[in-house]
Amino acid sequence: MGLDAAALADQGSAALFCGTALPEGALPIAEAYAGHQFGHFTMLGDGRAMLLGEHLMPDGRRVDIQLKGSGPTPYARRGDGRAALGPMLREYLISEAMHALGIPTTRSLAVATTGEPVYREEVLPGAVLTRVADSHLRVGTFQYAAGIDDPQALKALADYTIERHYPASMQEENPYLALLHAVIQRQAGLIAQWMQVGFIHGVMNTDNMAISGETIDYGPCAFMDSYAAMTVFSSIDRQGRYAFGNQPPIAQWNLTRFAETLLPLLHPDTEAAIRLAEDALYGFVHQYEQAWLTGMRAKLGLLVPMDDDVELVRQLLTLMQQDARDYTNTFRELTTTRDLANASAEMQAWLSRWRARLESQSSAPAALEEAMRLANPTVIPRNHQVEAALSAAVSTGDLGPFERLLKVLQKPFEETAENADYRAPAPPSAQPYQTFCGT
Ligand code: AMP
Ligand code: MG
Repeated sequence: MGLDAAALADQGSAALFCGTALPEGALPIAEAYAGHQFGHFTMLGDGRAMLLGEHLMPDGRRVDIQLKGSGPTPYARRGDGRAALGPMLREYLISEAMHALGIPTTRSLAVATTGEPVYREEVLPGAVLTRVADSHLRVGTFQYAAGIDDPQALKALADYTIERHYPASMQEENPYLALLHAVIQRQAGLIAQWMQVGFIHGVMNTDNMAISGETIDYGPCAFMDSYAAMTVFSSIDRQGRYAFGNQPPIAQWNLTRFAETLLPLLHPDTEAAIRLAEDALYGFVHQYEQAWLTGMRAKLGLLVPMDDDVELVRQLLTLMQQDARDYTNTFRELTTTRDLANASAEMQAWLSRWRARLESQSSAPAALEEAMRLANPTVIPRNHQVEAALSAAVSTGDLGPFERLLKVLQKPFEETAENADYRAPAPPSAQPYQTFCGT
């Protein structure tokens, strides 16, 4: 980031990362936004986050630096504005794992303990996460601007967004329509990547969907172990609204809320604006399916696309669900052995069909295996490992397990002796797993 690491080692940096001292020239703000939370519209904002400012990286990229858990803001409602150490370490681990998997995400720069207790169901050590993001503009930011009924504010926000994230849209005849198309395209790609690694965000409210196309707000998220399309981990998601398999349609639903906010900018005639927005939104399904299929083909080594690939992929997923196979390890086993242990008769038939398909491509076996290795991670942040790392850090202050897990997650496509334990699925005693919002 071009930060002076030596300067970060002194006493002052602890104050900086806890939010008790400000970097020179910083004018921190809490952002206002609105959001559909589990489908219900609310005006809210950063209740416990403070944007310190923007930072220019040596490569010219501009990022937001934000503290999460630094104290109450005008949007804190009844919250205390604080965060507990466990959930902040959790965001750190999972966001860094996502980055290493090649998935757009906000990053975690630091977690600092504050030395203060945080009162939840129990008393927990307080901590502040320093988050680095392309920006913190959300679908909910646009909903806020549309909600206060100030056309100038909405236009200013859209212009700012285009300039910051989608400058190419400025050259288009209708820049706001181009913005809508670009955001849809980016989200289609992002959700496809989530689906390819078995990531479940858990709380895809519109205020948790970033306009930049980064994964944001790691609360109750978790990775799926054995494949089941309707997997839900979050304790508050009782209806399964944000279940694994619902993520693509929910993304489209959120994007529809985004498109609604842009209507006044798309066309002076509302009917015409709605038609433009609908056309763009219909595009989501196709773009998502394309991105998903491209990724799934790579996972199965289908280097030469064929018409019935979708069916081949879907059939595998159905059989994986039937046999409760571990999602990550199944693809890895296919990569290294082109076979699966304990395959049912149906799975045997699928394997034969897949192998025949691979042979028809006439690609060199070594090249094929290499391509599949790059598309199939060996290690994901497995829930039981994440829990073990957090519990050691929180209950005994032992960061060893956290550091080891983080190190392994930073090289997710490697298969080494060092990461062997981290590749294993959870013991049956560690399931079923449940996550909590961590607020
Ligand atoms: P999320 O979990 O991201 O959907 O959070 C919903 C809203 O609750 C956000 O606006 C947060 O800033 C706010 N929030 C969460 N925890 C706290 C807290 N401890 N104090 C104040 N606001 C909070
Ligand atoms: Mg949020």
